Amino acid sequence: MIHIKRTREEFEYEVRALTMAFFHGEKISTKNEDTFEEEVTLTIDIRMDEDEIGISFVQNEIPILLIDCKASLAERAEYKNQLKILLYQGLSKITGTTLPWGTLTGIRPTKQALSKLEEGRSLEEIESYFGERYLCSKEKTDLSVDIASRELDILHKIDYKNGYSIYIGIPFCPTRCLYCSFTAFSVKAYEDYVDSYLDALFKEIDYAKGCFDGLEKKLTTIYIGGGTPTSLNEAQLERLLIKINETYDLASIHEFTVEAGRPDSITYEKLRLMKQYGVTRISINPQTMNQETLDVIGRKHTVEDIRNVYEMAREIGHDNINMDLIIGLPGEDEASVAHTLEEIKAMDPDNLTVHTLAIKRAAYLNIYKERYADLTFGDAGKMLALTSDFAREEGYVPYYLYRQKNMSANLENVGYAKPGKECIYNILIMEEKQTIIALGAGASSKFVFPEEGRIERVENVKDVKEYVTRVDEMIERKERMIVKEFFDGQPRT
Ligand code: SF4
Repeated sequence: MIHIKRTREEFEYEVRALTMAFFHGEKISTKNEDTFEEEVTLTIDIRMDEDEIGISFVQNEIPILLIDCKASLAERAEYKNQLKILLYQGLSKITGTTLPWGTLTGIRPTKQALSKLEEGRSLEEIESYFGERYLCSKEKTDLSVDIASRELDILHKIDYKNGYSIYIGIPFCPTRCLYCSFTAFSVKAYEDYVDSYLDALFKEIDYAKGCFDGLEKKLTTIYIGGGTPTSLNEAQLERLLIKINETYDLASIHEFTVEAGRPDSITYEKLRLMKQYGVTRISINPQTMNQETLDVIGRKHTVEDIRNVYEMAREIGHDNINMDLIIGLPGEDEASVAHTLEEIKAMDPDNLTVHTLAIKRAAYLNIYKERYADLTFGDAGKMLALTSDFAREEGYVPYYLYRQKNMSANLENVGYAKPGKECIYNILIMEEKQTIIALGAGASSKFVFPEEGRIERVENVKDVKEYVTRVDEMIERKERMIVKEFFDGQPRT
């Protein structure tokens, strides 16, 4: 266990996140105590004075390093940055490793690059800013700038500033994947609630239609995610698609995505319905094309199912298909990833989204750690490099990127697309460029105020049954925020 001592509460999150990036999977305690039941292998004692920071590292009770730097607590942001740099330098020295993203522990590095580009900074200026301020590698800086410039080009083509998007959550799945930490309920166990869930959702859909009435705001994109939206049966999916068609003018929006997701939930009829009702982009997510891995991670479908569903989608005329992959799945190595990429090449999807495995608290892989103690994990960095080489060779360009807590090797998730097939919603949400009204259990609306650099969130309850009984309250929560922020607190009639 690693013990971090004396850190100020206001900087605890950053200190913990950076330490975790060096010691992936290791238990970390920030309690201000000296005795623990578990063995403490490393103590990081951080003295945060008004004008100086000092860090001592003690390994197995032997002091190994003492470092310090000047920093003024009066300038909080700068102080935090100095603290992270000092901690990084110490951790890098004692572990003998560096992190490709340096001290960047937040989830949106491209947001920084995007704002620098918007300020008119050159590539050289951004490179030195990322290098000096975050100790970020040139490779990751260039990736961020490359993606940010592409995002800028795409955003320039649409009137996103006067718009908003809608997210609709379907929190049901056929089975739970081993690594999943999302709100996902077994569609079998919740069979009797799905129709009433849709009834409640339709109330929110009706509300969202008029939520910005009186303002010059237009709907830009709609995204149905989950869970697995195609867990709905054909009749339920059709009900939802009809409702969306009746409520919104799809002809005037830029994109309508359904993250179909799991191949075991997709049928010919569901794919046909999505095409008929104006869906412009779908996802069919293999995660891996190795059967053994699919079995281990609890996805009850075969590699053959993935190929079949993909072929059906093409036959029906879906011309923007995304496929999600996960790097770092249990038992996988570079050969497994190379095999998956060969299979992907044969299918030739329009988008390829490459995630690096992140094991969060709510995942079975974490909850039942002991049960999965024998699972092995390959070198995520090398496997991820295979995917970026593949993307370049096959004509995909990276167009959005984000990071999560607990990612293997502290890496990133990258969305690739064939030029012109990029998902606008993904850019809007990742770069926090637009308000997203989120509907359904577990959905989180984000109200974005770019001029003020401010974001307000409104959460819906996660539990399906709660959501059904409390949907009016979910609507009220959003209305309260909209009235406060856009109508000077004057209730609308
Ligand atoms: S398909 Fe996605 S949401 Fe559903 S259980 Fe698997 S990881 Fe979770």
